[in-house]
Amino acid sequence: MDSDKIDAIHRGGCVCGAIILRTTGQPLRVGLCHCLDCRKAHAAAFAAFVVFPPESVSITDADGSELTAGTLGVYDNGRGYRRHFCRSCGSRIYGTDDVSAALELHLGLFDETNLWAPTYEIWIKRREGWLKELDSIANRYEEDAAREGLSIG
Ligand SMILES: [Zn+2]
Ligand SMILES: [Zn+2]
Repeated sequence: MDSDKIDAIHRGGCVCGAIILRTTGQPLRVGLCHCLDCRKAHAAAFAAFVVFPPESVSITDADGSELTAGTLGVYDNGRGYRRHFCRSCGSRIYGTDDVSAALELHLGLFDETNLWAPTYEIWIKRREGWLKELDSIANRYEEDAAREGLSIG
């Protein structure tokens, strides 16, 4: 395999630039969530997640320094899932849950397009009818995928 690709560093950040993230290597998984919480939290028809182990992600301020306390806001849904966002501009940065250490980054944060394509969709019972089926999708779940060993908010 191409080691450049394996070790690729990708950059992203929030819309105001207060929060910069860098990922190393390839994500654990990439998927779409159509659940009502994601729709509302993102104010979007669906949410695209790129999930990385925490050791592959660095999140800093614009100068590359550690984030000062209070830069990230956290919304805890009371059911073991937390949505982290920039308190300055409101951009969603990542989600975390009680059952996994993984960081669920949002695809739209990355500066480049076409880095990854989703391979699964969850909560398709809430999927918009105008959205065409995507060729990259291998697995679709009516609701969440916890039964299949995936935990995705
Ligand atoms: Zn921001
Ligand atoms: Zn969701």
